[in-house]
Amino acid sequence: MKTIGLLGGMSWESTEIYYRLLNEGVKAKLGGLHSARIAMVSVDFQEIEEMQHNGDWDSAGRTLAQAARQVEAAGADFLLICTNTMHKVAPQIQESISIPILHLADATAKRILAAGIKTIGLLGTNFTMEQDFYKGRLIEKFGLNVLVPPKADRDIIHRIIYDELCLGQVKDASRDAYLRIMEDLRSQGAEGIIEGCTEIVMLVQQHHTDIPLYDTTSIHAEEAILEAIR
Ligand code: GLU
Repeated sequence: MKTIGLLGGMSWESTEIYYRLLNEGVKAKLGGLHSARIAMVSVDFQEIEEMQHNGDWDSAGRTLAQAARQVEAAGADFLLICTNTMHKVAPQIQESISIPILHLADATAKRILAAGIKTIGLLGTNFTMEQDFYKGRLIEKFGLNVLVPPKADRDIIHRIIYDELCLGQVKDASRDAYLRIMEDLRSQGAEGIIEGCTEIVMLVQQHHTDIPLYDTTSIHAEEAILEAIR
């Protein structure tokens, strides 16, 4: 079995979910007392969040590249960056390591295409919903038609991620807001919704709605398991 590298802590609330899913998944596939081989470095998210919101992506990239080198040195065979947003600096991280990155947007896009979906709604941080490293990649590399909410709703989604979910707070009113925004995207033609932030699954799960959800945390973990035991 290969060793799965995790760049975690963004936030640790979702890294905890990754850790559980990876171990449960390996146990389900291999049985017995099998568990995932994992090498993880978990960063201090306060530092990263300040760099993001100051637009200092170079420093964030350097910090994560350094952490990724530590993951590689710990014996990882491939790397998961356990956040959608920080895939913005994935090229910088990839340059500094020799193990491959299992890209979250690519894994998600393949699932969506396999389901025959062409128009997809995207929820995540404002960085993820607005910038080319993620939304653009889905459109250009995979030919998807990507719908995002209007600015006022993007701000609601973004605020709930940083002010609640990354702090472990799960509120019914916030779930209602997310479900309303998902329905709006469906009425505009979205055939499914990407939960394009690794904490959103804490708030909205498939049993809350009949819109097909693409939970990026689970998809990333499932792809990692397949790669690890291939
Ligand atoms: N975990 C989130 C994501 O998947 C947001 C936290 C971050 O900014 O990294 O985008």
